[in-house]
Amino acid sequence: MSCDNCETALQNLYLFLDEEIDTASIEDIQAHIDHCSSCLTAYDVERVVKALVSRSCSEKAPEPLRERVLYSIRTVQVHIDKRIT
Ligand SMILES: [Zn+2]
Repeated sequence: MSCDNCETALQNLYLFLDEEIDTASIEDIQAHIDHCSSCLTAYDVERVVKALVSRSCSEKAPEPLRERVLYSIRTVQVHIDKRIT
């Protein structure tokens, strides 16, 4: 499952998380995430990383954390792909 909006949604993901884009765009992305499981996964992972990073008061996610999260994204996406195809 992929669509033209995925690229836009992912490009705006960080702005969306930081609430730095205008309300109309937020609504577009939210609507897309609601219907797109792969973008929802990416969004959830970024949100978790952001929460963990802000809790640890460092500016960047430590590499081991980021790799673990990226690994879990890939695992979930493989699962999603299998379910769809
Ligand atoms: Zn998408």
